[in-house]
Amino acid sequence: MPKLSRRSLLRNSGAYVLAVSAGAMALPNSAAAKVSKREAGYQPRPRGRQSCMNCKFFRHGCRGANCTVVAGRVSPMGWCQLWAR
Ligand code: SF4
Repeated sequence: MPKLSRRSLLRNSGAYVLAVSAGAMALPNSAAAKVSKREAGYQPRPRGRQSCMNCKFFRHGCRGANCTVVAGRVSPMGWCQLWAR
């Protein structure tokens, strides 16, 4: 295991604090850019042929289904008033 000097430890911890601060500042902004499910009129079932699965705002990633404009997890079979092709 490499031996760390006090100087390198302080330098690295400073970079870590800056990175965490920048990330923490970015999270509320990205969350604030989304509307709540209630505001969007979200429902867990499709509306006719329209569903999250065929909406342009739908994203399916390794953490599950997500929407770029509505906050929280959404079902691929869900729908809301912001649906768009
Ligand atoms: S905008 Fe509405 S319909 Fe489209 S993916 Fe998001 S929650 Fe689903």
